[in-house]
Amino acid sequence: MRGTPAFEEDKLHEECGVFGLTLPEGENRDAAYTVYNALFALQHRGQVAAGIAVRRPEGLVLRKGPGLVPEVFSKQTLQKLSGASAAIGHVRYSYEGSDDGNEFRAQPILVHHAAGNMALCYNGRLVNGAQLRMETETRGGIFQIGSDAEIISHIIVREHLRTNTTEDAILNAMHYMIGAYSLVVMDEHKLIAARDPNGYRPLCIGKVGNCWGAASESCAFDALGGHVVRDVAPGEVVVLTPDGPESYSCGIRAKGALCAFELIYFARPDSVIDGVSVDLFRREAGMCLARRNTVKADIVVGVPDSGLSAAQGFATQSGIPYEMGLMKNRYISRTFLNPHPNERRTAVRLKLNAIASTVRDKRIILVDDSIVQGTTAKRLVRLLRDAGAKEVHLKVSAPPFLNPCYFGTYLPDSDKLAAFGRTGEEVCHMIGADSLQFLPVEDLKTIADTLNWGHCDACFTGNYAVPVPRQKG
Ligand code: SF4
Repeated sequence: MRGTPAFEEDKLHEECGVFGLTLPEGENRDAAYTVYNALFALQHRGQVAAGIAVRRPEGLVLRKGPGLVPEVFSKQTLQKLSGASAAIGHVRYSYEGSDDGNEFRAQPILVHHAAGNMALCYNGRLVNGAQLRMETETRGGIFQIGSDAEIISHIIVREHLRTNTTEDAILNAMHYMIGAYSLVVMDEHKLIAARDPNGYRPLCIGKVGNCWGAASESCAFDALGGHVVRDVAPGEVVVLTPDGPESYSCGIRAKGALCAFELIYFARPDSVIDGVSVDLFRREAGMCLARRNTVKADIVVGVPDSGLSAAQGFATQSGIPYEMGLMKNRYISRTFLNPHPNERRTAVRLKLNAIASTVRDKRIILVDDSIVQGTTAKRLVRLLRDAGAKEVHLKVSAPPFLNPCYFGTYLPDSDKLAAFGRTGEEVCHMIGADSLQFLPVEDLKTIADTLNWGHCDACFTGNYAVPVPRQKG
């Protein structure tokens, strides 16, 4: 049976953002404050929990908890983390388990083991996490909650007992872990960034003043007044030293598979990922939609925020004027999630409202980044019609979702996806639009060709770069 999700639930959910920074000796900078600021820039990647681990003279120290970055870290909390020579931080979206466990599922995690101490955080999801956990437990390993972060730390610690360094342990561990993981790891001496052999989630390295760091997105370095030096390559482990990065390859040859949805929706438009500007990618998607458009319209309206770049691309290519027809309330917090069913229309209007003077009596091209269950699209069409729009033609800057994601993006079960088992006309009818157009998969492939490495489009095509549960014999 198809349920009716709340407004916020009818969007894809990203899992995490990571950042790490190491200070050269004598550097006059507070590592914890810098990471705190970086997490602000990455807040869009996760709003459920945040954490920072620092390396202080007495050892590794961790603070984390549920909430937005400023809710977790007060001035006093940050002062307790000051004086560090390195720090790593994390923002999290709830994916594994329920929200109740977020305080414990928050990252980084701190591990004390026979060969030393380590703090770790990551973005992604292991496809074989359950199997690795079972194998570890069979050998006597104990888990507190069984999160992927815990599983990864167990594998790294196990390999550390066979190797001399944390980076060698990570390189070994990568041969056991299948799936998506962009890792930032800190031990008593080093800061290390690692990206899975397919490169599902973004990870880049850069500089802030004299300090080297690693981030999920380039916008974090921009916010700190720093700059990106390069992306971490799929399968690469980078040790960030005061003299610069040392690069190692795990030696696994794999198909590049950056999540296409990072470019379509998750990442900030001012980020550059694997050599591609997120804003330009979205504009090009909008231009592709416009080249195939057959509908006559008066204005182009983008759904804030992730539909705006594609809407501008559509307007540029089509010559139809771009207008701000929807206003977003930027002050609705993540706590505003579950309105009473009778109040759902109010919830939508609180979050987004139509600008009636702009949309009244207009034939509108409405551009959004995706349709998941279709409820958001339906409410947006209704909103514009209620405000006097004459026609609403929905253009979606992604292909239709048809398959599950196993790599850290929450997608509802296939039978809940609007496009699963329905024709385009049926989806259009369901959401009440005058017409509906998705970005064809071949256009997505053409735009994504400019990426440094390949991309994943499995939720659209069913072509997974690694074996996934349903494909196993
Ligand atoms: S399946 Fe879709 S959402 Fe998941 S990693 Fe691939 S492109 Fe991204």
